[in-house]
Amino acid sequence: MMNKLQSSPDKSVYLVNLGCPKNLVDGEVMLGLLADAGYTLSLDPEQAGVLMVNTCSFIDEAKEESIETILDLATYKATKAEKQLIVTGCLAQRYGQELRELLPEVDVFVGTGEFLRITEILEQKRRALEKRERVLQSDKKSGRVPSSGPTLYLGASHVLPDHTVPRIPTTHFYSAYLKVAEGCNHKCAFCIIPKIRGLQESRPIASLVAEATGLVAHGVREINLIAQDLTAYGRERRDGTTLLALLKALVRVEGLDWIRLLYCYPNYLDEALLGFIAAQEKVCPYIDMPLQHISDRMLRRMKREKSGDGIRRVVDRIRAAIPGVIVRSSFIVGFPGEREDDFQQLCDFVTEAALDHVGVFRYSQEEGTAAGTMADQVSEELKEDRWHKLMACQAEVVRKKNRALVGEERAVLVCGQDDHGRWWGRTQGQAPDIDGIVFLEQCLAESGAMIRARITGASGYDLQARCLPEQPLQQPTALDLAVASP
Ligand code: SF4
Repeated sequence: MMNKLQSSPDKSVYLVNLGCPKNLVDGEVMLGLLADAGYTLSLDPEQAGVLMVNTCSFIDEAKEESIETILDLATYKATKAEKQLIVTGCLAQRYGQELRELLPEVDVFVGTGEFLRITEILEQKRRALEKRERVLQSDKKSGRVPSSGPTLYLGASHVLPDHTVPRIPTTHFYSAYLKVAEGCNHKCAFCIIPKIRGLQESRPIASLVAEATGLVAHGVREINLIAQDLTAYGRERRDGTTLLALLKALVRVEGLDWIRLLYCYPNYLDEALLGFIAAQEKVCPYIDMPLQHISDRMLRRMKREKSGDGIRRVVDRIRAAIPGVIVRSSFIVGFPGEREDDFQQLCDFVTEAALDHVGVFRYSQEEGTAAGTMADQVSEELKEDRWHKLMACQAEVVRKKNRALVGEERAVLVCGQDDHGRWWGRTQGQAPDIDGIVFLEQCLAESGAMIRARITGASGYDLQARCLPEQPLQQPTALDLAVASP
């Protein structure tokens, strides 16, 4: 790889991946395809010949971050016109037409259904730019300048690469995401994802097992399953493919230690699935299940499929079926029409249900969604106020929960050292990037090792733990020897 970098610097790629892990996997696949075509990875936008932003457009904040990143990378291009600036992902898919006018410094916009053609698209654009340069040179005297501008590649809503498509994981070597499906069949009023990514399409189990096996062969110990709606995985295939069937196949992958479930919709969490999770050591007792609200009025307006009581029952069933389960969820505050009593119900639920991890989003008014045109939008100030209040409720829950963990022993995946040289890791109850971490005292293990540690304290969302020495092999006692004697 480095040799290629040195021999063809103009084919080096600097990629910024934004948004959710599903977008991250798409970015990793693009890197894999580009590497196969002779491109190399660069960590320096100044040096790279190709600057890429894999964008997100889920909410306003994400859109702003995407645009800022594009403009930031455009400054590198301003000093070196031959660099290519490529915008991929959800923002390109959703706003490619409009952005073409607004961001002429971009060379190509590539939608979510076209990214498998990334190498061909880059080559096409390169040839077009070279041709333009030649014409420019010959027309210099006449002063005619051929028009140029971003090219759009916007096709289907998504593509779903299988295990045969190359991918370069950009996460730590011991942990990876596995995208099991793309698209979503729900119609949540606030969400633009089904319009961007289309209806759900699931990968076959065999392809996922093959990919998981390959990841494990490269040192991965933890696989995080992702989809827009993980629990609906496989249903549209109508061939018996389900999340349970997938888990049954994945637990047989040798060398894989942890399988984690992210983005579960409250449907289909039936007893068979929960029982399997409880019985299998490899499947983390961890359910990430975005619930969005608890007030029936809000849930109906959001077009969610469960009532508040339905949600409470699901949480109870999960906890009854999986001892010690860690439940993560996320909620939206300031959805149109959210009244004080709706919000109070949400605060009460967060306090009473005492979920282990909670993320809170301020509602973002999105064009093209059912909620985007609702009349009774909530002011930004009120959203902010509610966000702080709900976060404070959850902080109190976490404080109590973490305090109760002191003295407990846990398996920890050692993740490395932070900027201050402190070793840290994660338990089965801590997903990468979104949950707290465990700071480790007396850690002698390397990154990627599985160790045991005793929780000694907590600070904010994080834990502290002391690493336990390797358990010595059990020595036979005098009684054992006596019993064993003839
Ligand atoms: S389940 Fe709802 S929130 Fe999640 S991706 Fe589908 S439509 Fe969006």
